[in-house]
Amino acid sequence: MTTTGRLRGRTALVTGGSRGIGRAVSRRLAGDGALVAVHYGHDHTAAERTVKEIEGDGGRAFAVHAELGVHGDAAALWAAFDRELAAQDAPPGLDILVNNAGITLPRAIQQVAEDDYDRVFAVNTKAPFFITQRALERLRDGGRIVNVSSAATRIAYPAIVAYAMTKAALDHLTLSLAQQLGPRGITVNTVAPGFTETEINPTLRDPQVRQALAGASVFDRLGAPADIADVVAFLACDDARWVTGQWIDATGGVHLGL
Ligand code: NAD
Repeated sequence: MTTTGRLRGRTALVTGGSRGIGRAVSRRLAGDGALVAVHYGHDHTAAERTVKEIEGDGGRAFAVHAELGVHGDAAALWAAFDRELAAQDAPPGLDILVNNAGITLPRAIQQVAEDDYDRVFAVNTKAPFFITQRALERLRDGGRIVNVSSAATRIAYPAIVAYAMTKAALDHLTLSLAQQLGPRGITVNTVAPGFTETEINPTLRDPQVRQALAGASVFDRLGAPADIADVVAFLACDDARWVTGQWIDATGGVHLGL
């Protein structure tokens, strides 16, 4: 992996960093020189694999465990982060937070049970809210927050209505915090992926579904995790210092229509 060095000396935390888009973001930020905390929930093996991949590429990373969507998850995450960071002999504090972890709920309103609703909001909305709240004590001036939302917040998408609502709330977190944190030189932005090839969407295993979703992009392909990671890495670096409160479409032009 190419190392630009543009994030050398920075510390980043990527939630859900062990696989999919989060794994690609972790690898890209580390490839740019950051020390990356790869957060994970259940998948310890995947997190360790991602850390090893980063180290194999000459980067620096460590795994941080916290199950999201449970009471006190943000406190647990930051306690683990502080502990592991100290174990790396790295200075305390944070430069880049990527709120990426998320789950989907592919159901129309008639099929959404109250427990499912609570769960998807707990993981996709409440967790990043309180993770960000506690990140503020650690974020250095000039820091970066990038929220991974979804293109589904700007189009009607009844088949995933509750999921889209969780991400629409996250979009607002970007706006309000961008204003609040501006005086500290901290930027806050959203990256909104379209159909991206990860394990979140099991229907992508069906060739017909793949073809249909790929056709939604003007490039006639699904997004790759690296397509999203490169946008996140740009927003995390100094080149994006004048960009804040933005919602960046990373869908391969799905919004352009037929
Ligand atoms: P993924 O399922 O591969 O990754 C999700 C990550 O979140 C995993 O690392 C998972 O372990 C973590 N996670 C989920 N629930 C958790 C919990 N309770 N506790 C701790 N960690 C948890 O899917 P992905 O596509 O890489 O998703 C990354 C983000 O991108 C998500 O927020 C998703 O909503 C968003 N997104 C994805 C697509 C897509 O098509 N793949 C499109 C739009 C938005």
